[in-house]
Amino acid sequence: ARDEVAVNRHADRDADGFQRDAKKHLGQNFLHERGVIERIVQAIDPQPGDAIVEIGPGQGALTFPLLDRHGALTAIEFDRDLHAPLQAAAREHGDLKLIEGDVLGVDFTALAAELGVEKIRLAGNLPYNLSSPILFHALDHANAIRDMHFMLQKEVVERMAAPPGNKVYGRLSVMLQAYCTVTPLFTVPPGAFRPAPKVDSAVVRLLPRAADSIGIDDRARFAAIVRAAFGQRRKTLRNALAGTMEAETIAAAGLDPGARAEQLSVAEFVRLAGFRAA
Ligand code: SAM
Repeated sequence: ARDEVAVNRHADRDADGFQRDAKKHLGQNFLHERGVIERIVQAIDPQPGDAIVEIGPGQGALTFPLLDRHGALTAIEFDRDLHAPLQAAAREHGDLKLIEGDVLGVDFTALAAELGVEKIRLAGNLPYNLSSPILFHALDHANAIRDMHFMLQKEVVERMAAPPGNKVYGRLSVMLQAYCTVTPLFTVPPGAFRPAPKVDSAVVRLLPRAADSIGIDDRARFAAIVRAAFGQRRKTLRNALAGTMEAETIAAAGLDPGARAEQLSVAEFVRLAGFRAA
């Protein structure tokens, strides 16, 4: 029976040791379109001394070109079946430091210190089922991140970059824009991946703002207010924030308690979170 398992394991792998089938539950859609890969590497534009950290290297579509260009790279991959073939194939390209595990458990601040840099540069074609948790995890460590280049669902990138009043402006827009400059770069069709996802994708650049320019001194309170305000999109601020702050406090912050969350700018959310009744 053991031999049978070994044969089966062998049969579902390609000659280079990579599994033949993508794992859907890990959001595996492997990039194969050369032109797209090249555009991502150009957008990142690695410079000597940069500590680049890739999330979800998969079968190395971005990893190997980045290594060819930059010589060294750190990558975080959850799928154990990919570790050995990645390490083996990487040797031809450069120095790959592979962290085997869940990116959500990686402390980017500690990683930057370990890599001997003040800030790391994050990149990756993210597993779409985990996009929001990964983005929020990165925001928690924004001080240790110089920039981020991510491939995401196009619809998520549109939400991240939406201005107030737009129909997709929401919690993700306010949270991302409060801490980062969000720049959508280009869209990518499903056919660039194997297997092809059902949706269009897009590459986005995030530049964390300097900590002292953000104006949020209580991050947890800011997050709670944004969450509550958009929790009930159709409600006025007065009603949506009923459990969080008094209508008088909203008015004292110079905002209309009768307005809805989708009408508030990011700066107004920052002001609202910073304002406390005397
Ligand atoms: N970078 C490769 C490419 O472009 O072809 C793979 C991209 S694929 C969309 C996402 C990758 O993230 C997969 O390799 C998957 O195994 C990995 N992944 C999924 N969940 C993860 C997690 N929690 N931590 C780290 N990697 C994860």
